[in-house]
Amino acid sequence: MTNNINMTIESASKLVIDCFVRNGCSPAVAKSVARVIVAAEADGCLSHGLFRVPGYVASLRSGKVSGVAQPKVRQALPGVIVVDGQGGFAPPALDEARSSLIELTRGNGIAGLALVNVHHFSALWTDLEPICAEGLCSLAFTSYLPVVAPAGGTKPLFGTNPMAFGWPRADGRPMVFDQASSVLARGEVMIAARDSHRMPEGVGIDANGNPSTDPNEILKGAMLTFGGYKGSAIALMVELLAGSLIGEQFSYQAGENDNKDGGPPRGGELIIAMNPVAIGGVGAFAHAEQLFSKITEQPGARLPADRRYANRVRATESGLSLPAEVVEQVRALMI
Ligand code: NDP
Repeated sequence: MTNNINMTIESASKLVIDCFVRNGCSPAVAKSVARVIVAAEADGCLSHGLFRVPGYVASLRSGKVSGVAQPKVRQALPGVIVVDGQGGFAPPALDEARSSLIELTRGNGIAGLALVNVHHFSALWTDLEPICAEGLCSLAFTSYLPVVAPAGGTKPLFGTNPMAFGWPRADGRPMVFDQASSVLARGEVMIAARDSHRMPEGVGIDANGNPSTDPNEILKGAMLTFGGYKGSAIALMVELLAGSLIGEQFSYQAGENDNKDGGPPRGGELIIAMNPVAIGGVGAFAHAEQLFSKITEQPGARLPADRRYANRVRATESGLSLPAEVVEQVRALMI
């Protein structure tokens, strides 16, 4: 049985920031990355919470990722911002470019942000919520390492390739769905391996291409896309949007060039933001609320992100319940 330690959000943030600073990050980079990690933990997205800190630190220690990178932002086209993360983590690069994306989207109705030369290891909803807070809806896409087989194939080629979509709401809790194009995020398989749990059927195959429910065998083999060929098509789209469209590498190329330190590979992220009031008129948000009501009035149905918001309220009131093993791992990385 796992022992858990209760910690406030502030204490967990301080722990993660200190750990990153001790491993070579500037305070600004440490704070930016810690924000997305602790937010994931608070929202109950454990596969992107403190569990990820050893991977981030491994990539700093191996020299693959720079903890002091100074991202460079430029407006490449009237509606396109490009930020070169200079080999750093994605969150500080996005922090540097977010206000430019918001300004362009307000003026043009639609704008894109290409993040290149970054290392992305977090949930995408943390990237979109601040854009939604400005009254803009948005889409985000990023690729990863080759760990997912294309539909019908047996060899890893695609990343787990998440996509997310956020729509602002008046209560400050936007509707955001954020989903891997694999059946599950890879972190879930890693957690199952750590805790010696079986996976449900359909999550992955072993190295010989046979269906498996053993997380260790799936980690050696390949994960599967959700919905068969439909998820495979989305994984393909994400490769193109976060790869060739913005001049970054595909997941399989990231795999070829990665030093396999367990941290995030180099890659890209595409964010597209849109201004519903400018495009659809002042009634756009009220119109969307009608649809949301039609969903939530059905017993058993809910909006994506509502589970997270309920967890966030609990974490804010009662703190985080962190596996002792994970906290110990983070502390050990500070020596
Ligand atoms: P899930 O399958 O757990 O959830 C996908 C989405 O569906 C969430 O927005 C979730 O909302 C929503 N949802 C789940 N159940 C319901 C329901 N009953 N009704 C309505 N909506 C529902 O996520 P994944 O395992 O696919 O992905 C997990 C995370 O991993 C994502 O945040 C993704 O960005 C991240 N990831 C990051 C990668 C990277 O390289 N950076 C790679 C791959 C994944 P809710 O959260 O409220 O349950």
